[in-house]
Amino acid sequence: MMIKPDAVERGLIGKILNDISEAGFEIISLKLTHLSIDEAKSFYSVHKDRPFFNDLTQYMSRSPIVAAVLKKENAVSEFRNLIGDTDPVNAKEGTIRAKYAISKGENSVHGSDSNENAEIESIFHFPN
Ligand code: GDP
Repeated sequence: MMIKPDAVERGLIGKILNDISEAGFEIISLKLTHLSIDEAKSFYSVHKDRPFFNDLTQYMSRSPIVAAVLKKENAVSEFRNLIGDTDPVNAKEGTIRAKYAISKGENSVHGSDSNENAEIESIFHFPN
């Protein structure tokens, strides 16, 4: 998972990590980092042909993020339930995006969408 720039900028790292812990996730790896524009483009390369790709990569590289690897039974689907819909307008009450996201683009958190991508993204942030 990542805590994205809009949330780090607003001082929400502690609140979001607390929500994650209270939902029963174990934090396996954790770091504060700052993606370069090329790293943001690489991370989101699946979206390279989408109209929002430029906005997304500018946003993700404009200030620091937190990257973490989490552990829980059915972690991928459980975490996506915890964060809610991509667009906070559609996110269920109590989800992280409903509570903190600014917009569909600046939506405070990232969660992997499959076990396969969770592995790829873990290695992206924690290669050693
Ligand atoms: P996620 O799996 O819920 O994060 O959503 P997606 O994989 O569809 O999109 C990846 C990320 O791209 C989202 O979390 C948003 O930050 C961003 N994004 C998606 N759709 C839009 C959009 O329509 N406009 C903008 N500006 N950003 C978007």
